Amino acid sequence: MQALTNRSKEVSRKPISFLESLYLPAIFKGMAITFSHMFKKQPTIHYPEQKRPFSPVFRGLHVLNRDEEGRERCTACGLCAVACPAEAITMEAAERMPGEENKYREEKYAARYEINMLRCIFCGLCEEACPKDAIYLSETFAPANFTRKGFIYGKSDLLIPDPKTEPEAYAKALGKGEKTTASTTN
Ligand code: SF4
Ligand code: SF4
Repeated sequence: MQALTNRSKEVSRKPISFLESLYLPAIFKGMAITFSHMFKKQPTIHYPEQKRPFSPVFRGLHVLNRDEEGRERCTACGLCAVACPAEAITMEAAERMPGEENKYREEKYAARYEINMLRCIFCGLCEEACPKDAIYLSETFAPANFTRKGFIYGKSDLLIPDPKTEPEAYAKALGKGEKTTASTTN
């Protein structure tokens, strides 16, 4: 039969030699290759002791932002939910009451804000759509969970620590890359 390409090779069917029938040279050759890998640079990263540096454009777990006075920035406008291609965001708006000016920056705020991390594709469109700098994607992973319900993150999971009462936790949540502009005012 005529070959379609010239890439095929004819297999040699000659009988194996005495040395080959001992199999020892092949075994030693294989062991030498294995041994040589002990002195090569290891591609494996021993997580969690070692951590791979993130790309500057890495998009991780969402954080709901506060302003410099510790007030929630989100005004429950819903633009992030509309922009989300995975329909992962839901929220319920509420009116700010007199005396709550120190808690919520705007007259309307998100009484409930949820992101379904099983739906999220970490595209970052919610961050881009937000006019209040209220949501950003941080440099941490969404941790593993045993239940589907555990991947639905509510406000208590997403809200950044208060810079006034928990300055250290707030600075840690901002991360090295500081993708947020929490120190700016809108
Ligand atoms: S990162 Fe993308 S998919 Fe995830 S919640 Fe934001 S807009 Fe939706
Ligand atoms: S996070 Fe931003 S875009 Fe989404 S509801 Fe709040 S203010 Fe609007």
